[in-house]
Amino acid sequence: MRRDIPTLIRIHSQCLTGDVFNSTKCDCGAQLHRTMEMIQDEGRGAVVYQQQEGRGIGILNKIRAYALQDEGADTVEANEQLGLAVDLRQYRQCAEILFDLGLCQVRVISNNPLKVRALEEAGLNIVARVSIQVDSHEFAQKYLSTKKKKMGHLLEL
Ligand SMILES: [Zn+2]
Repeated sequence: MRRDIPTLIRIHSQCLTGDVFNSTKCDCGAQLHRTMEMIQDEGRGAVVYQQQEGRGIGILNKIRAYALQDEGADTVEANEQLGLAVDLRQYRQCAEILFDLGLCQVRVISNNPLKVRALEEAGLNIVARVSIQVDSHEFAQKYLSTKKKKMGHLLEL
């Protein structure tokens, strides 16, 4: 790997339902596949698979949150009703993996400004943020607009 060339990377947050089972409730699976296409087109890059399901609340709580969402709560309200934080993810270990690979200068594929900031705080030199836009199912629209409105995601909806 050429350390002097900024590398295209993504920290992909594990989403069992989206990544493996192609759930239409979110766009995670489509984002993971689009990321791999972008890296393939680039010819080099890395995906760190962040095993912090459901923004860190775990799969069981995520399914509980989905049940509340089926009753009308949005993704933020559902976590709050369960007495859980909206986002518990930690990024330091992800940055450490990239350091171990020798990747200190990176271009980050993400729409989440908080994730980009957390990676910078973990010591990564982020040369650019690379937007990722995927087609999403109509069932995911409320989830995505909540991420845009309440969590600051830079989405073109
Ligand atoms: Zn998902």
